[in-house]
Amino acid sequence: MQTAEVVIIGGGIVGTSIAYHLAAAGCKDVLVIERETAQGKGSTGKSMGGVRAQFSTPVNIQMSLYSIPFYAAFDDRLGYPAEYRPQGYLFCATSEKHLAYLRANQEKQIALGLKNVRMISADEIRSLFPQLRADDILGGSFCSTDGFVDPYSAMNGFMAWASDHGAKLWKNAQVTAIQRNGSGIGGVETTKGPVSTRKVVNAAGAWAADVARMAGVDLPVEPLRRMLVPTEPFDQFPHTAPMIIDMSNGFHFRPESRGFLLAWNDPEETPGFKTDFEPSFIEKILTRAADRVPVFENLAVNPKRAWAGLYEMTPDHHPILGEAPNVRGFFLANGFSGHGVMHAPATGKILSDLILREKTDLIDASLLNLARFAEGRMIEETAVL
Ligand SMILES: Cc1cc2nc3c(=O)[nH]c(=O)nc-3n(C[C@H](O)[C@H](O)[C@H](O)COP(=O)(O)OP(=O)(O)OC[C@H]3O[C@@H](n4cnc5c(N)ncnc54)[C@H](O)[C@@H]3O)c2cc1C
Repeated sequence: MQTAEVVIIGGGIVGTSIAYHLAAAGCKDVLVIERETAQGKGSTGKSMGGVRAQFSTPVNIQMSLYSIPFYAAFDDRLGYPAEYRPQGYLFCATSEKHLAYLRANQEKQIALGLKNVRMISADEIRSLFPQLRADDILGGSFCSTDGFVDPYSAMNGFMAWASDHGAKLWKNAQVTAIQRNGSGIGGVETTKGPVSTRKVVNAAGAWAADVARMAGVDLPVEPLRRMLVPTEPFDQFPHTAPMIIDMSNGFHFRPESRGFLLAWNDPEETPGFKTDFEPSFIEKILTRAADRVPVFENLAVNPKRAWAGLYEMTPDHHPILGEAPNVRGFFLANGFSGHGVMHAPATGKILSDLILREKTDLIDASLLNLARFAEGRMIEETAVL
């Protein structure tokens, strides 16, 4: 019979960050179980790789304040690349309401210790990026330490470091059942045989509710399709640009390779395990792209290179972290609602703290526990892209 001190279900960026943080804290008997033949086939490999601290709730800001410096030091600390590029996030407000919202968020971010965020005038936006149609832009906010990482590299780096320090990874192994032992955990059944353990972490991304059900836990995490469109090489907009967000409709884009990566969250999308790319999305997004950046009229797009993936949504757009009520030893790291890459380092640290010490100093962990839904303590995040 295989045994492990901690079994982590899911080898994406969240599961591997938890494995890294456990190993770094001295807990080396960790087994990560991934059902696919390769890691990153879930949401991690589909992500846009944006990292930002410009959130509206203190707990999301705090998670970014750990995660972004972590990414900045990733290559030195782990010896593997995460490809952090601090090119910033620029939110462009087109209404007084949005401007006031950015200002209020910025005050919270600065109060919590974020140094590089500032309000930016419409004139400065116009002079930095004359290619933007700025007649309706009233101003914005910019944070220079926001930016991008390569999620796939970061995931591999986390796992490689954890493996170098004793953790194990099973690929092509699906967890099919979770055994209870009284009010706690007894082990897991997998397609590679049973594993005896008293601690299981659910890091199964968009599939987290299915895994939670195996332990008798009802988890409010729903898959929601998101689509991204990469462009062909394009040099009429600077490649040093930040992530630029048009707050009038949510369209956003960032440089990627020699072209750009275009994103827009269609409000008509409905929950479900849909991972097919919908070709009609191209016209919808290109219309919004050319509306904000007139030279994007000249963009070339190959629909075959566009893709779709799944966000793991919770009712209040915050993750669900920590031990499940009523099942001792069953830990949750789920429901990142579009922020799982940027919050993976903080999640790894928080989960490792909760598993090994039953407490964490990084955040008030009770804010993000599963019980908040039953107890009516939801904390709505509105800065969701
Ligand atoms: C289009 C798109 C753009 C995004 N952009 C951003 C962004 O800019 N910034 C950001 O921070 N986030 C972004 N996200 C969200 C981010 O990608 C996710 O929140 C993050 O990848 C979640 O990581 P994870 O490890 O929890 O899940 P996943 O990467 O999905 O990993 C979960 C793993 O669990 C495995 N698994 C499931 N069930 C089982 C089982 N029973 N047994 C064994 N293994 C199992 C799956 O195979 C999968 O590999 C984006 C997502 C999408 C789809």
